[in-house]
Amino acid sequence: VRLAAVSGRATLLAATEGSHELHGVDVARAIGGRFGPDVAALYPEWEAFREWATTVDPADGDPVDPAELGNPAPAPAQVFAIGLNYHDHAAEAGLQVARGLVPPTFTKFPTSLSGPFAPVALPSDKVDWEIELVAVIGRRAERVPAAEAWSCVAGLAVGQDYSERAVQMVGPAPQFSLAKSFAGFGPIGPWLVTPDELDDRDDLELVCEINGEQVQKGRTSAMVWPLPDLISVLSGVCPLLPGDVIFTGTPSGVGMARKPPRFLSAGDVVVSRIEGIGEIRQECRAGR
Ligand code: ZN
Repeated sequence: VRLAAVSGRATLLAATEGSHELHGVDVARAIGGRFGPDVAALYPEWEAFREWATTVDPADGDPVDPAELGNPAPAPAQVFAIGLNYHDHAAEAGLQVARGLVPPTFTKFPTSLSGPFAPVALPSDKVDWEIELVAVIGRRAERVPAAEAWSCVAGLAVGQDYSERAVQMVGPAPQFSLAKSFAGFGPIGPWLVTPDELDDRDDLELVCEINGEQVQKGRTSAMVWPLPDLISVLSGVCPLLPGDVIFTGTPSGVGMARKPPRFLSAGDVVVSRIEGIGEIRQECRAGR
């Protein structure tokens, strides 16, 4: 099942790797109001929705304009984001990572989230990129063992954890949450893919390109804390709720770690792609 927010309306999409020639079925129209049109309202009854959605063939649907795609997880009660979840990224940051009690965790405040193709305004000349696999929760999860964690995942999407490094580093200790929560700093999309659609949900290639130049490439199988472990440990601290979002960390290749450091400029185009899911794209603009 591929679920998109098309002009804010829940829409089932036919499978395609690209963002062209999309076809989709409007959920609320197809089922007479039982589900939708709000995407966020689907997550509290995800199992029933997914069961119905598997009976629909979206290939018969109407054409969908990619420009109308929005964030498929638009109203999370909680957004979790994980730092240093790939060894190669920790190494480029000059840090050693051993799995401790919990992974380094912060939030991106929900107002920073946006759709897959919305331009991103640069508040300064210190904005960095971080491609990340994003998971959306489809069932309340409380003290869930890792072996059962996938059953709590509604689906996966591509995310960017844009980061303003001056705000991040200005205090006596790094402050990730505020530095990563400027408007538009959390694009998610281009749609949500249920894990059963993927050949191997635990091993997906991630690639980030700036103006066509590859700057990041990794595989989700290299996570220090794989997604089931993240859900297990996070849900051991606080319940995860339907519609919640987890940014799972970024592989190496961010701008801050380069010598010399490199940051985004107006006009740059950032493309983030994950195998089996699709790609999102933002054009950088000056100012706020
Ligand atoms: Zn990140």
